[in-house]
Amino acid sequence: MAIELKKLNMAYGSTVALKDFDLHIEDGEFVAILGPSGGGKSTILRIIAGLIIQDSGDVVINGEIMNDIHPSERNVAMVFQNQALYPHMTVYNNLALNLRMKGVSKDEIDRRVNEVAKIVGINTILSRKPREISGGQAQRVGLARAMIRDPVIYLMDEPLTGLDAKFRDEMREELIHFHRITKKSILYVTHDQIEAMSMADRIVVLNNGVKIQEGAPRELYDN
Ligand code: ADP
Ligand code: ADP
Repeated sequence: MAIELKKLNMAYGSTVALKDFDLHIEDGEFVAILGPSGGGKSTILRIIAGLIIQDSGDVVINGEIMNDIHPSERNVAMVFQNQALYPHMTVYNNLALNLRMKGVSKDEIDRRVNEVAKIVGINTILSRKPREISGGQAQRVGLARAMIRDPVIYLMDEPLTGLDAKFRDEMREELIHFHRITKKSILYVTHDQIEAMSMADRIVVLNNGVKIQEGAPRELYDN
């Protein structure tokens, strides 16, 4: 089991963001959390990543309780919409940075960077700067940068929101492909029903911090 969330509660002051929220994600499963803005979706991702700490409940990653564990030790990777690449660094160095800071050897960094670059198809643009690549390539670099951490799960916060329609369709296919080749767990939050339906193995519908429905896309659709 990649992730288990047990009875999570979270409030910001008097605003309740999550109420007794339970979730489990199997190894390799693609789960979407679907719901309107303000429903508590980002709060779930931030709690799993350890960026904020829940008021009560447990976060279990790969069978280990993570409530007191620092974000850097949680073995999860956030994928952002704005890929937040360092503009003055080459794609290669954007990918290598995290490993360099961890003190990984040069040869090992080179091996890992080239490995993930090949998987997402950016091996020919490694020496370019972010301004010299397309939006689609930037998205792939963002995925590669998450991949290099070899996470238990990818946490994706509306990575396609705000993109124009054609590009969004293309990126949806990219993410489906990414999931197929990495076979890793993905937790994807969105307010877009089509995105959730077309990509996820299972959809959790969230409203006002409460899970109101859960099932395979087909099951939800039939209801
Ligand atoms: P979603 O990702 O579904 O849009 P969020 O998890 O961002 O929902 O927010 C859930 C609720 O918590 C909303 O009512 C939001 O306004 C509130 N909230 C989120 N972050 C903060 C914060 N840092 N301070 C105060 N309220 C917040
Ligand atoms: P900086 O100028 O920031 O030191 P470099 O571009 O010189 O960064 O690269 C640092 C190391 O990363 C180099 O020793 C090189 O081996 C490796 N490297 C950089 N770009 C590439 C690339 N496109 N493909 C393979 N290795 C690269």
